Amino acid sequence: MEKEQNHQVTKRNNPYMSFLWIILTLLLLNGLVFPKLSNQQIIATDYGSFIEKVDSGKVKDVAIKSNHIYFTTEERGKTLTYQTGETNDPQLVERLLNAQSPNKNNKISFNQIIPRENSPILDFLLMWILPGLIFYLIWRQAGKSIQARMNGGGNFMSFGNSGAKIYAESEIKTTFANVAGQDEAKEALMEIADFLHNPSKYTQIGASLPKGVLLVGPPGTGKTLIARALAGEAHVPFFAISGSEFVQMFVGMGAAKVRDLFKQANEKAPCIIFIDEIDAIGKSRNTGLGGNDEREQTLNQLLTEMDGFDGRKGVVILAATNRPESLDKALLRPGRFDRRVQMELPDLEGRKAILEVHLKKVKHEEIDIDIVARATVGSSGAELANIVNEAALRAVRMGRKKVTTADLEESVETVIAGAQKKNKILSDTEKEIVAYHEIGHALVAAMQSHSAPVHKITIIPRTSGALGYTMQVESSEQLLQSKENLFKRIVTLTGGRSAEEVMCHTITTGASNDIEQATKLARAMVTRYGMSSRYDMTGLETMNNSYLGGDGSLTCSPETAADIDHEVINIIKDAHTKAKEIISTHTEIMHRAAAFLMEKETITGDEFMKIVEECGENKT
Ligand code: ADP
Ligand code: MG
Ligand code: ZN
Repeated sequence: MEKEQNHQVTKRNNPYMSFLWIILTLLLLNGLVFPKLSNQQIIATDYGSFIEKVDSGKVKDVAIKSNHIYFTTEERGKTLTYQTGETNDPQLVERLLNAQSPNKNNKISFNQIIPRENSPILDFLLMWILPGLIFYLIWRQAGKSIQARMNGGGNFMSFGNSGAKIYAESEIKTTFANVAGQDEAKEALMEIADFLHNPSKYTQIGASLPKGVLLVGPPGTGKTLIARALAGEAHVPFFAISGSEFVQMFVGMGAAKVRDLFKQANEKAPCIIFIDEIDAIGKSRNTGLGGNDEREQTLNQLLTEMDGFDGRKGVVILAATNRPESLDKALLRPGRFDRRVQMELPDLEGRKAILEVHLKKVKHEEIDIDIVARATVGSSGAELANIVNEAALRAVRMGRKKVTTADLEESVETVIAGAQKKNKILSDTEKEIVAYHEIGHALVAAMQSHSAPVHKITIIPRTSGALGYTMQVESSEQLLQSKENLFKRIVTLTGGRSAEEVMCHTITTGASNDIEQATKLARAMVTRYGMSSRYDMTGLETMNNSYLGGDGSLTCSPETAADIDHEVINIIKDAHTKAKEIISTHTEIMHRAAAFLMEKETITGDEFMKIVEECGENKT
């Protein structure tokens, strides 16, 4: 968020500058050595006087050059250069051959070009160096912008100088106070900050700190932020580079960059090197799919450098990734990135703390942080920061000076479901179906004990394509989910479609998102949570990239995979039947609540529960 200035240029090796110097020197030399040549005066004259001068034997030499005749004369001991136009005189050559030159008995020499407007050096520069220079500049630019990878090719075009512009930032103002929640991570890094502050305390005993710390976690949990904060806490220079910056077009550049980086860091010790998104270079080398030479060279160089430097000197390397399982084992062995700091998605308390940190930056009224934090289960720090900013923007749009809780609630919905679509007109039948669909979810949730209470129901279309939605907010954070609760969630998800069927006698595409979620959940119950009697505790699926949404791959035989499908279908069918049952036994509530929702477009959980109570219903 904050942008610290104070960049110190630690590298000043610009090839453009050296070229400029060569050119300047050559121009200077040119002026000193050949001043006469370039300053010679040329006098314009007419053809008649030229012929006259030839005939009277005053002309020494003549040059004919593109419609002009240049000639020099020797008159009264002085050499003068003239210029005249050419007039296609057929006798000119004959005349010149017969004429006398002032140098006794010599003929006029012609065809040599006398007036030298440019020196040979300048000619040489223009003809050879300038095109070369232009070509060089274009080539360099291309090398920079095209990040194409070149597989193989050995040492084709490798450079000793990486041209890496690595800035060390000093005086970073981000501190641990800017990082909310993440107490475990902060604690782990605090020790390193202390070491960088006061290395002697540790070296006296003979302890050396871990050289490398790997920050692991889903995107937006504050990995980059906490790395900066560590540098801010320790008051040391901060070298930040992204893993992808190492992978360059030319083979050998990445490795050279790593060398440069460590050389500079050693000079600046104590300091912090931060390699963001390290998986770009640290990917496991034995993936089978024909490696990438450049990346492997860079990785090898990194490994060598990490082994090579003295751990007591105070250079700490932080790296961040959200794909720890893809990293090369060699990177993780002791002496390299042997310490792992986990950054998880914030829990309820964490979300409150993060909201507070970001609310400090905006003007706001009394805010019910609790309600916002509870409505944002599963949101990362970056998303929470975004929600606060969206709320501030909304306050400005509404012409207010301060952010209110309502702004925050609306921006939570904007971030989850997209902005409201004001001009999307639903026909009355559509509106009715959507209303029954949403009330269906709400009713099914309300009728099952221990499912999250309904917070809000709305049928205002959103830009994400949702025509309405029912927002449930857990009253407390749940870390363990029981089989019963998961099943109840699936029942609630099928509630929308069930309402369409039972109340409107139709089925629509409106349930596609519900279907997707319900199926995912049911499948996870069977394959990963061991919640089917059939497979007991057998794991049938492994998760890849668990921090990036996660995609599972089945680890069972095709026969079992087909069986799993049946299990999943059965769970969904059971849930659907249950939801239909609940709805058909409470048609009175359905009618009243749907009518109320159609009238108001948005109703709160309390308003909905009041209708439920008025109908004298109790939870089953
Ligand atoms: P990552 O590198 O893990 O993907 P970032 O560090 O880039 O995430 O976080 C992006 C932004 O999200 C930060 O600049 C900050 O505004 C906000 N943020 C994330 N986590 C936190 C946190 N724990 N406390 C405060 N702000 C946070
Ligand atoms: Mg990051
Ligand atoms: Zn739905």
